[in-house]
Amino acid sequence: MSNQRLNKKIPTIEEIQKEFEDFVKRKYGGTVNFTMSQATPETTAADDTNTTAPEEEAFDLKFDLKPKEVKQYLDRYVIKQDDAKKALAIAVCDHYNHVREVHENPKVADTDYSKQNVVMLGPTGVGKTYLIRHIAKLIGVPFVKADATRFSETGYVGANVDDMIRDLVTQADDDIELAQYGIIYLDEVDKIATPPNIIGRDVSGRGVQIGLLKLMEETEVDLRAGYDAASQMQAMMEFQQKGVVEKRIINTRHILFIISGAFNGLKEIINKRMNQGNIGFNATVKSQTELGDCFQFVTPQDFIEFGFEPELIGRLPVHVVCQNLSADDLYYILKHSEGSIIRQYERAFRAYGIEVLFSDKGLHRIAEQAYSQETGARALMTVCEKTLREYKFELPSSSIREFVVTDEVIENPAGELQRILEDTDYNCQVVMRERVRRYEEDFQREHQMQIQFDYEATELLCQKAIDQGRSPKEICDELLQSYQHGLNLIKQNTGQSVFTFTEAVVDEPDVMLERWIRDSYTAKSKEERKTSEENL
Ligand code: ADP
Repeated sequence: MSNQRLNKKIPTIEEIQKEFEDFVKRKYGGTVNFTMSQATPETTAADDTNTTAPEEEAFDLKFDLKPKEVKQYLDRYVIKQDDAKKALAIAVCDHYNHVREVHENPKVADTDYSKQNVVMLGPTGVGKTYLIRHIAKLIGVPFVKADATRFSETGYVGANVDDMIRDLVTQADDDIELAQYGIIYLDEVDKIATPPNIIGRDVSGRGVQIGLLKLMEETEVDLRAGYDAASQMQAMMEFQQKGVVEKRIINTRHILFIISGAFNGLKEIINKRMNQGNIGFNATVKSQTELGDCFQFVTPQDFIEFGFEPELIGRLPVHVVCQNLSADDLYYILKHSEGSIIRQYERAFRAYGIEVLFSDKGLHRIAEQAYSQETGARALMTVCEKTLREYKFELPSSSIREFVVTDEVIENPAGELQRILEDTDYNCQVVMRERVRRYEEDFQREHQMQIQFDYEATELLCQKAIDQGRSPKEICDELLQSYQHGLNLIKQNTGQSVFTFTEAVVDEPDVMLERWIRDSYTAKSKEERKTSEENL
């Protein structure tokens, strides 16, 4: 090998790709494209290779979570889907406990261990991806999501399933050891099902399933894709320079695979099977089970009839069902999920010094509109974007510093925007009212007692706040100084825990409280007299 060659700089993968693209463009006039895999630049694929086997010792896997802890973490973000959260928490703990054991003691035989790969069933937008994303984040392993429809058997038309493994390395910042403990999430797998009785349906589906099976079983994936022209050329140049090419591979033994889909048509298969067997048993099941609930009874045989290879289904022992979300669930997601998109809007407006408050009625309205779109929680973003786009455009350049997303805003965004821009008093009133509602919520959270100011009381409070140039919270704190103690007494005497405040409370808080307390003692002694008479 000449010195001249050695001194020549090795071009980067991007430079080679650029050169190659220019060449293809010149030759074919832009009608032909080639794709570049995300394989790492150092990898090679020549036959004459040095294989660098991943060193397990280099990676320190500290997994010590229990299923309940995993579920509690998921509860903070994912609303509903309790069964799914439990099943996933158990599967994930089993998997990573096993991985840790093998990692700590490589002599542990894991030939009999069956990996806890998961198949998730459920409609779109109900939290399937969201669950897995959070699990990966909690454990600290890389996560890759792909759509099964993207793949073809050979990789010539679409991408190759092996690409997911390479993407995992990219996600792990090129840390192969870490990538080997990652999670691959493959969505829309129902689209690669090939039912035996349907002729002519996507022929490559079966091939993709076989490719997937190979990855699930355990294989070694070369980090350089064979069809990736740019990296192949780079390998050639490295070989010319160094006389040897390094081969980096990743083993898929400990990668957790989760596949998911809506599985339209599978319910009919399950239902049919359940009605074919033992008449007595199935009669009960059928009467109790709507078609909508029958995913929980799915068996491997049903998946096979749906169009999956028996070996593939055999590698997916954990079946997890995610439920549809109701309009109330969607409201709950907006209001209580730590990952609610509401936080995103709050941050977006805060960047312009604007505080946006979402009223409860506004949230309910968003949830109802989203529900009618039948795309689960995904539609929440669609509704919010559509409604608030003009607000995001106009308000940063206006004098408005706070505003409320009320039910009126959701129903008539343009009209309300105009109104709050033109009528500052109106906007101020709406904001004040919402602050009173927040006070009620905070009071309930802190004291486990529900208070509510009726319409007139709310208006009076707002007026006082405006007149005195103070916030509704300051006014309420002052008015209700003795209420926490007083209402507790009433609660002890009568069990009452919901209190409605009228104008009289705002006008004369102490007088009203005294009267309520007196009445509660009277009611209590009446009750005691009645009980002792009954006992006589
Ligand atoms: P899919 O079930 O189709 O995988 P995703 O998990 O991608 O749906 O959901 C889309 C988005 O909707 C998530 O990023 C999340 O913000 C929200 N979301 C969906 N389901 C839930 C849920 N059960 N709880 C909280 N947020 C959810």
